[in-house]
Amino acid sequence: MKRILAGVDIGNSSTEVAIARLDGNDIKFLSQCLVRTTGIKGTSENVEGIRRALQEAVKKADIEFEDIDLIRLNDAVPVIGDLAMDLISETIITESSMVGHNPDTPGGAGLGVGITVLIDQIRKVEQKEQDYIAVIPKYFDYAWVAHCLNQAESEGISITGAVVQKDDGVLIHNRLKKKIPIVDEVALIEKIPLWKLAAVEVALPGHVIRTLSNPYGLSTIFQLDPDETIQIALIAKALVGNRSAVVIRTPKGEVVERKIEAGKIFLKGANTQKLEVSINDGAEEIMNTYGKVETLIDVYGETGTNVGGMFNGLRQDLAQLTGQSPDDITISDFLAVDAVIPNSITGAMAGELSMESGVALASMVKTDKVPVQKVASLLEKELGIEVEIGGVEAEMAICGALTTPGTRKPIVILDMGGGSTDAALMYESGKINSCHLAGAGSMVTMLINSELALDDKELAEKIKRNPLGKVLSLFHMQLEDGTMLFSEKPYPPHTFGKVVVREEDELTPLATKATMDKIREIRRSAKRRVFVTNALRALKRVVPTGNLKHLSFVVMVGGSALDFEIPQMLTEELGKYGIVAGFANIRGTEGPRNAVATGLVLASVRHEVLK
Ligand code: ADP
Ligand code: MG
Repeated sequence: MKRILAGVDIGNSSTEVAIARLDGNDIKFLSQCLVRTTGIKGTSENVEGIRRALQEAVKKADIEFEDIDLIRLNDAVPVIGDLAMDLISETIITESSMVGHNPDTPGGAGLGVGITVLIDQIRKVEQKEQDYIAVIPKYFDYAWVAHCLNQAESEGISITGAVVQKDDGVLIHNRLKKKIPIVDEVALIEKIPLWKLAAVEVALPGHVIRTLSNPYGLSTIFQLDPDETIQIALIAKALVGNRSAVVIRTPKGEVVERKIEAGKIFLKGANTQKLEVSINDGAEEIMNTYGKVETLIDVYGETGTNVGGMFNGLRQDLAQLTGQSPDDITISDFLAVDAVIPNSITGAMAGELSMESGVALASMVKTDKVPVQKVASLLEKELGIEVEIGGVEAEMAICGALTTPGTRKPIVILDMGGGSTDAALMYESGKINSCHLAGAGSMVTMLINSELALDDKELAEKIKRNPLGKVLSLFHMQLEDGTMLFSEKPYPPHTFGKVVVREEDELTPLATKATMDKIREIRRSAKRRVFVTNALRALKRVVPTGNLKHLSFVVMVGGSALDFEIPQMLTEELGKYGIVAGFANIRGTEGPRNAVATGLVLASVRHEVLK
């Protein structure tokens, strides 16, 4: 029976399609296509991209949409990597102070905004139309405090929140006639500036604050302009995931700098194993500590710090996206690499930057389930074509990779995508071990973007993908390896004297002051930090004995296997173990692309033949 099949691979970055005609056991591939994934992998927004990819592939194959008999989707693993990346270091904030912590029992709930005033001054305030936040140091007894607040209230003084040094939040709250949010256990209460505009927010038990952790919430409360909002965004970020917080705005120059710590990472392993490591210890120490965890169950960041903000934010974003509770979302892997992070110098007049060391973190987030079934149903309804969910992604990728000439089982594939590096080992028997590791192409782009202080991801992506040159005169350019290139046509004047990115038919001059060697070094080291580290991590995971000497074939697939230097770096590194490693040539024609989509088509046939 003749049938037309379409394999569809939804990745974090790309959606790939392969179309084939099936005639008995005979398979003929007709076309393939790649588009950017629309929406987050595994959500219904993917349908739009899939439709576009199919349309193009159908056109290339010279058939009609209606001719497709069956679409096979990959069973997307419920791990997401692309969202989960950040650079973390200590940040210094001026012009604002904040308290963000999770006392066991804050009082009340809600948001209060007002001028900070000491509790024993409160009944002496002159402007009664103003709202106030009471600041309550430890030498005041809770009963007296409650009495004082009630009294003030009855005198027409509006108190909208309180900050308490002792663990008295609930005790005070219970005695109040008018309920207000109270943040307690604020040890350094004497640091809170008085007579300044402040906001206090407490969330109901089991919830997290919403306003003070939102930059626009802060800009609304404190009436900030866009520049000031950018500055305060760091505070919002550090407060994400807290149950209570206080933010105090102080005018220029009055406040001493306040540090938001980089923070600690808490690792939770099986059998109640618990380890912690500080971001300031650097990537190596972090990964060493990770190495001591037998089976990673989850990872947390210290609240009120930058790393806490990152992990908590991640959980919340994904919870919202998948409609689950943040508690159901766990971090299944992370990669820390050292990074240089530009920081603006306080008081700098011309945007001077100081380069500080920090850590770049990528993580894999495991959600309960990614609703692929929903995507499949929606697709079926919209296109009127039967859709089935094919095999596991890793299995399909191997199936596709094995069409590379010169390979056989046992084989390991490294699928190097945007958000994650996935590895799978297939034994001769067909048994498969696989793993999904955080960190891939997007992390390299992020490192390049940061370390060259570009603040332009697209340019960073360009630098990642192409070699450099330096235009020395109108007719000659020095290449990365020192050789000289002469041109018949003059180079465009705006490239003169500049380091340029050499795309096939375009030169992009770089504004940065860094030399060509420096840029090249950053580019290559970013690739090594992410991909060499991850390739070794991946192999250790999938080869049960951890002994790489038994391996012979490693095939690289995915977008990052197209890179002009990453595969060579791995060939060299894995060559040390006697492994033949190189990038795939799917079906002998497609290079490292289309492995999963091809595998989805092939697997279906094997299935039918077996039946
Ligand atoms: P996914 O399977 O996660 O959707 P892909 O396999 O499409 O991801 O890989 C996407 C990654 O590949 C991106 O990080 C992108 O920068 C990188 N990439 C794509 N083309 C190239 C190239 N020519 N050189 C280097 N990297 C590339
Ligand atoms: Mg992929």
